[in-house]
Amino acid sequence: MDEGTEGHSTIWSRLGRLFGHDNQESLEKAIVEARADGEVEPYEESMLLGILRFDELQVQDTMTPRTDIDCVPEDMPLKEVARVIVRSGHSRIPVYKDTRDNIVGILHAKDVLSSLLDHEGDAPSVLSVMREPFFVPETKSIRTLLQEFRASKQHIAIALDEYGGTSGLITIEDVLEEIVGDIEDEHDAPREEDIRSPGDNVFELTGRAQLEDLQELGARLSSDEVDTIGGYLSMEAGHVPEQGEKFTLHGWTFTVLEADRKLIQRLRMEPAGHDTSTSGQKTDTQE
Ligand code: ADP
Repeated sequence: MDEGTEGHSTIWSRLGRLFGHDNQESLEKAIVEARADGEVEPYEESMLLGILRFDELQVQDTMTPRTDIDCVPEDMPLKEVARVIVRSGHSRIPVYKDTRDNIVGILHAKDVLSSLLDHEGDAPSVLSVMREPFFVPETKSIRTLLQEFRASKQHIAIALDEYGGTSGLITIEDVLEEIVGDIEDEHDAPREEDIRSPGDNVFELTGRAQLEDLQELGARLSSDEVDTIGGYLSMEAGHVPEQGEKFTLHGWTFTVLEADRKLIQRLRMEPAGHDTSTSGQKTDTQE
């Protein structure tokens, strides 16, 4: 159970009273209006809205998904692990036994470094250097997780799905970013923009583009099951769509530009009828 919920709602009702608004929605509206009137700066608006929405977010909404976790098998020699750390740029690397669904430890870069220096000839095994993982359900509220991170002095957790499999990885940075926006550190590789517009109401998307961001562009796609356009189209098709497959949904045509066996990588979104390509088959039409 989430501790502090009572205290939390009291704070919000006090804030609401202070600003003369009796619910979160009208408080949000007041913040947006204050920004429009120039009373608050854009970054202040986004932080205030971030704090208001913080309470609704779960670990699964902000974690790094399982497929993107840089991790190593438990029997990898420590020297090779050091190379993985350098390549990935992350300072904590999960260790798995047999499959990614079975994370058994977390390696900290500084532990690996000092171990390698202390045992130059015969580096110890990963198992003797790794630390206990901190597991959390993917449905945990990030507000509770933040309290737990602080209480346990941990900075990283492994999120589990309801079957006990690995769902993702979440760090304190992911949680804080929900309030302060992207925190770039010196090792962060630039990430491909999920939505780009070459113009003329045509959009190039990665499979990870969020449905809620596409709604802002006018595409009325929503789902309780999935968050991304790649997941949405896979669900519609009943399989991972291949390159060239097309979907017409709610007045928009989606053409898969690049996909592998597991994921749609890139696609184009354009108003139906506007179609700029000539190849590909039509697999689905839903208005
Ligand atoms: P680091 O500085 O080691 O990358 P941060 O806590 O600053 O760790 O996290 C930055 C981002 O990198 C977060 O989005 C986090 O989920 C992600 N991240 C951290 N460690 C890993 C890892 N081993 N594999 C993939 N993503 C990771």
